[in-house]
Amino acid sequence: MKAFRFYEPEVPWKLEEVPTPTIGDNDVLVKIKAAGICGSDLHYKHGRMKPGKIPIILGHEIAGVVEEIGSKVRNVNIGDRICVHYIISCGDCVHCSQGNDNRCRNRRSIGHHVDGGFAEYIAIPSRNAFKLPDEIPFEQGAIIGCAVSTAFHALRVGEFQPGDTVAVFGLGGVGMHVVAWARVFGASKIIGVDIVDFKLRLAKEFGADFTINAAEEDPVKEIRYLTDDLGVDVSLEVAGTEKTMEYALLSACESNYASGRVVSVAAQFKPIVIKGMRTLREGALRKSGDHTRDDLRRVIQLVKAKRIDLSKSITHRLPFDKLNYGLEILDEKKENILRAVLIQ
Ligand SMILES: [Zn+2]
Ligand SMILES: [Zn+2]
Repeated sequence: MKAFRFYEPEVPWKLEEVPTPTIGDNDVLVKIKAAGICGSDLHYKHGRMKPGKIPIILGHEIAGVVEEIGSKVRNVNIGDRICVHYIISCGDCVHCSQGNDNRCRNRRSIGHHVDGGFAEYIAIPSRNAFKLPDEIPFEQGAIIGCAVSTAFHALRVGEFQPGDTVAVFGLGGVGMHVVAWARVFGASKIIGVDIVDFKLRLAKEFGADFTINAAEEDPVKEIRYLTDDLGVDVSLEVAGTEKTMEYALLSACESNYASGRVVSVAAQFKPIVIKGMRTLREGALRKSGDHTRDDLRRVIQLVKAKRIDLSKSITHRLPFDKLNYGLEILDEKKENILRAVLIQ
């Protein structure tokens, strides 16, 4: 089969002919129909994140059709449309038992430790294959597996309650869907912050009530103004920069005994400086990471029921061999891009 393999940072990923993977008794072979290019793929591209093996097929937003099943597989059949849960968990450890398979002690990740979706086929454990209802196109199935579910999980980690006010710092693939979910969940005020006008405009379509261009205005001051000087109930950092983390901390609701929840969603590669410590109360600062099997199950049902509209989420549909181009435009923001998906 054809696959893009990653060898080292800062060079184009190589399109190569590699053996089609074989499956064990509990695995399924999936013919990939759509694979999303995620912001975290840029971390590999620039060497900020190192994959678990070299060479590796990266890509963790995957949807396709089951082509072959192992002898013990019961949950899916040949021909089923599926999307991939990229976290391989053991199901037995303490965290899995608590429903937190994203924190499985034996966790491995598809498109990080094991080969991922920038290929024609992928072999995965059958429990990582989630059936995709006919109503959901493959391209949406792909991004459901990361951007959409990670955003859903972040609001749950922030203990979002209906009527809460929400600020989202960084309106990329994940941040934009935080805005969309906040609307679905019943936020009373949603404020989107970015420095790219296209994303600010799009955020309004995804449900933001107010947008702030942080290159032109002080977002903390604006958010204070928009919330009668209270700050927001849930403040989410989805850009992964020191500055946006600082904004997120300073924009959370403060009072004597309670405070808003600050959720660090994006990977942070620099130390987090907490200047707003005076205002942070018990349980205020949280880290959300990926999403759980239960999140993905719920998200699929909500998309199927059309509770959330993903029709504007994919701005670029590219042929499979255009992966390097997709990474480039996502990186350089030369075009108005939210999510690019490789279609096969
Ligand atoms: Zn991702
Ligand atoms: Zn586990």
